Amino acid sequence: MPVRPHPFTFTCDRCGWKKTIAPRSDALGPGEWCDRCEHCGSTSLSFKTAGVIDRTLAQWFARLRR
Ligand SMILES: [Zn+2]
Repeated sequence: MPVRPHPFTFTCDRCGWKKTIAPRSDALGPGEWCDRCEHCGSTSLSFKTAGVIDRTLAQWFARLRR
């Protein structure tokens, strides 16, 4: 059984934009990684494991995409 990776959150250091990603497997697919801010285009993003609330939201959105 594959290990389910933890969701994680990107935060833009410039404008505060955030995106939480909940990978469905340990291989990241398209749209499951960010290398720049989708709001201002800055490449200086912070990265952390999502908190409980963000994780719940990410799982909810993942369910909607199916
Ligand atoms: Zn930004």
